[in-house]
Amino acid sequence: MAASRKVTSFRLPPLPTVSELIKLYNLRAEKQLSQNFLLDLRLTDKIVRQAGSLRDAHVCEVGPGPGGLTRSILNAGVADLLVVEKDSRFIPGLKLLSEAAPDRLRIIHGDILTYRMDRGFPANISKPWEEDPPKLHIIGNLPFNVSTPLIIKWLENIANRTGPFSYGRTRLTLTFQKEVAERLTASTGSKQRSRLSIMAQYLCTVHNCFTIPGRAFVPKPEVDVGVVNFTPLVQPQIQQPFKLVEKVIRNIFQFRRKHCHKGVEKLFPEACRAELTQEMMQKADVDPILRPTELTIPHIRALTDAYAHLCTREPGLLSYEFREELRLKHLPKNKNTAVDAFLDTPSSRAQGALQPC
Ligand code: SAM
Repeated sequence: MAASRKVTSFRLPPLPTVSELIKLYNLRAEKQLSQNFLLDLRLTDKIVRQAGSLRDAHVCEVGPGPGGLTRSILNAGVADLLVVEKDSRFIPGLKLLSEAAPDRLRIIHGDILTYRMDRGFPANISKPWEEDPPKLHIIGNLPFNVSTPLIIKWLENIANRTGPFSYGRTRLTLTFQKEVAERLTASTGSKQRSRLSIMAQYLCTVHNCFTIPGRAFVPKPEVDVGVVNFTPLVQPQIQQPFKLVEKVIRNIFQFRRKHCHKGVEKLFPEACRAELTQEMMQKADVDPILRPTELTIPHIRALTDAYAHLCTREPGLLSYEFREELRLKHLPKNKNTAVDAFLDTPSSRAQGALQPC
């Protein structure tokens, strides 16, 4: 693991271009892995600039592929760049880059969804949560089917200060499908306001930096791409466990066009639905006829706090899932009872949740 140190000369020596490397190692993009490469170094430099100064910093790049963005990160003067790449075909090209940047590029052949980033960097770069972010950044141009589950996992890590956030308020600069980037940063009242907007914004300052047209990638994807920057907040705007917040938001947004009380209702078993919905809305002091997209984060905070209060009074509520109840209703009789109860499966827990009312 590289210790923190100053870099005196950081420009890379002359190298084959990324396109030449792709030809040299026969790195055809795999369509089923959604590989789209960025070969224009002015664009990769622009992405890297969104992360702020990287001089002497530590960086984790996710999915370096043929290494265009990797070159820009190295040229920004980082002290230590750790790249995590799943596809073994890219490792030889990355090794070539590593030889051109001695002691500055570490290569992990692995999957970012399971990689333990909390072990990837020296402990002495950590900063207390309340202070400025550590000199550690995560940067990546990932396939869209990876970047969305990954950001949800990292948001949970931010809430729990685990994984990359065990070092402090590690900043992230990532690419998403343009529509997802818009949802992540959508404000109250906008058409794109969604579950993802609230989940990201209650934990981070989120900034949609710029859009890259699909034609800038090789091969060209069907969609445009947004570059999004996240800085974890010192104080999350909602102070409840992540899973509870996620559950309230998921229920509220399941009927995006209806009044918000419709989604709130589904947090409760049928037997006590009307009564507990009314109690929760009153306690939160939120107008039940607002639409989910019209709710501000303080509204969601008030609703989440009210729900947490009800769960303390009726502990079985926490494991109640409306969709699970629906599923049970449609199962043939006696199919879901004895075995489920024995195994403590979600369906048995959902049944248990019916008991408090
Ligand atoms: N960063 C390169 C660029 O901008 O040209 C490549 C971008 S390509 C869209 C995504 C890269 O992420 C590919 O190299 C792919 O193999 C890699 N990748 C996909 N899933 C991954 C995962 N779960 N963990 C690590 N790398 C992954």
